Amino acid sequence: MSVLQLNKLVKRYDSVEVLHGIDLKVHKGEFLVLIGPSGCGKSTLLRMLAGLEDITSGSLTLDGKEINDVPSQKRDFSMVFQSYALYPHLTVYENIAFGLKVRKADQAHIDKMIDWAADILNLAPLLQRTPKQLSGGQCQRVAMGRALVREPKLFLFDEPLSNLDAKLRIQMRAEMKALHLKLQTTTVYVTHDQVEAMTLADRIVVMNVGVIEQIGTPLELYDNPVNLFVAGFLGAPAIAFIRGTVQNREGQLGVAVQDTQQGTENTFIPVQHVDVAVGQEIVLGIRPEFFQLQTAGQQSCILKVKVKFIEAMGAESYVHGQVCGQDLIAKTALRLDYQPGQIIDVGVDLTALHVFDANSGLRLSN
Ligand code: ADP
Ligand code: MG
Repeated sequence: MSVLQLNKLVKRYDSVEVLHGIDLKVHKGEFLVLIGPSGCGKSTLLRMLAGLEDITSGSLTLDGKEINDVPSQKRDFSMVFQSYALYPHLTVYENIAFGLKVRKADQAHIDKMIDWAADILNLAPLLQRTPKQLSGGQCQRVAMGRALVREPKLFLFDEPLSNLDAKLRIQMRAEMKALHLKLQTTTVYVTHDQVEAMTLADRIVVMNVGVIEQIGTPLELYDNPVNLFVAGFLGAPAIAFIRGTVQNREGQLGVAVQDTQQGTENTFIPVQHVDVAVGQEIVLGIRPEFFQLQTAGQQSCILKVKVKFIEAMGAESYVHGQVCGQDLIAKTALRLDYQPGQIIDVGVDLTALHVFDANSGLRLSN
């Protein structure tokens, strides 16, 4: 069941249209993540849901009723911003209680809710401090507490973890997930961090310059990106894109990749089960885990890869290299001692290729 429905939502600032007709259903209880590059319109969309920005055209419905003109404070949503927007002169307790006091909740209810939120968020020892006596992570928890105690119909988060250092961000990410599992409150969460999106979301909405590119579960998007943009946006290290022209060699269709730089022969990568035509420009997408270093599998093709450098992470290593002058990153659990400039044989699992049309950017394979 969808709680919130966005129908052809458009946002224009003067003559500039920044959202071009967004259609989206937010299901009850789900954790929906909006992701996309900076400036694509995520915050604008979230602020429209919150009632902090006017809707230029289209309709926004909550439980079937249009709420385009319902003011923010009557929407029963709680929003947490990147800058926590705490009141500096109020204590943690007063910050969390603020929204309840405005709504004239009785003191017993306020105390009960603050005890509950303080317990969930480990804020009990901090309740009498003011924000300047808190770390970034603690401020973030206070902002969350303030959102929680209102028991809203919907949580709206705009990059709530992006001001935290890396370690705390990972810790808070896990806490957000645990909290959602506990409370099951419908959540719309904006981030530009694809790891956050992959780990937190029930469904991800990938946005780009004011439109939605694709909606799906994290693994649907990872395994079946509809276009080059989505393929390139999700996944770390990034997917490799190898560009070439379709040729028929002895009855086998494949991509001929011209070597522009390293003076080795051109490469031919067979493509299977895809509708492509001889002469068509296509882009192969290969995720880092589908390159095979040292052991090539059955359905593989061998590439001559020129090593640029290796990032050794401990449990795994990333080999940065080039095939025919085009960049790729291969991931492996092996510890390797390749030298920069060395040419190595790397297998590619042909069953895991993503095939895109180079001109439209659209996926051709299933
Ligand atoms: P994101 O959150 O994805 O980084 P925003 O929603 O903040 O992107 O911005 C989307 C686009 O709208 C950007 O091009 C931005 O410059 C523009 N924009 C945002 N707010 C305003 C405003 N108040 N007036 C004019 N343009 C704006
Ligand atoms: Mg933003």
